[in-house]
Amino acid sequence: MRDSENRFARCGESLSHRSLNQRTIRDPVYGIGVGVHSGEKVRITLRPAKPNAGICFLRTDVRGAKAIPASAEHVADTTLATSVAHDSVNVATVEHLMSALWGLGIDNLIVELSAEEVPIMDGSSAPFIDMIDSVGVVEQDQARQFIRITRKVEVNQEDALASVSPYDGFKADYTFVANHPVYDQYPKYVEMDFANDSYIEHVSGARSFGLEKELAYAQSIQKCLGSSLDNAVGLSEEGVLNREGLRYSDEFVKHKLLDAIGDLYLLGKPILGAFSGYKSGHALNNKLARAILRCDDAWEIVTLKADIQSGAGMPILHGQIYSEVNLSRG
Ligand SMILES: [Zn+2]
Repeated sequence: MRDSENRFARCGESLSHRSLNQRTIRDPVYGIGVGVHSGEKVRITLRPAKPNAGICFLRTDVRGAKAIPASAEHVADTTLATSVAHDSVNVATVEHLMSALWGLGIDNLIVELSAEEVPIMDGSSAPFIDMIDSVGVVEQDQARQFIRITRKVEVNQEDALASVSPYDGFKADYTFVANHPVYDQYPKYVEMDFANDSYIEHVSGARSFGLEKELAYAQSIQKCLGSSLDNAVGLSEEGVLNREGLRYSDEFVKHKLLDAIGDLYLLGKPILGAFSGYKSGHALNNKLARAILRCDDAWEIVTLKADIQSGAGMPILHGQIYSEVNLSRG
């Protein structure tokens, strides 16, 4: 048996290996912000959820509203952001929060919102990570399920491409194709293997961005009404407008990767595989997620085991997090 095969199992547990389990948050936590498109003030409350419950959104401002599953099949709109809907109740701009939840390995969570849009916070996923960090993450008594890609699935839209391929872990590359020469000053390609690269350290801080002249137009058609240099990187014809500059030299392409990770986490389970995106935006990311769900011969559901003694198997997916869990168990 190959070494990697040892790490996957459909069920059962031996004495020396234990499953990596599902996770939720320890206590409820809330934050207040504005929706980037609506400009509306919103209160977001994250609450622990039971094993196998998944992630769902609940609008507290809509009487009788049912929970909306965070699922690729519930994606209703991908114009400038990803929105999910159920029974004509909508939740907009879910991608940065979903990306943070992937980064922290959160499987089960109730996300309550007092308005339609998830707050933009600082335009990255780092504030959501900090919120969750303030209450802590707990491991639950059910094995975490992964979608293990067994053959390549690729989608395209004009010249944009997105794909997943088999890989023993999770890695992702992204090529950002810019629509303005100002972006030529900055890196346009990123590749990360999350067995070695920390999402929290290297990706979560990457903010949304846009050209100043595009913002003026978007606001004239009632979009990006909550957008400012406090929640996005703004670019003039010459370069970055924000006084503090960039957080990473490759912040733009990393934000595109952050978005793709969030959009793909709407599959409901993390992927074991390699993602590749070329100019892929929310629409194409969702097209890929739906194609994966449709091609059920291209993946299987697995649980992941780690060797308790050696820790082998831990680093396969943002290993740092699982190592911490391991340590906290003594
Ligand atoms: Zn984004």
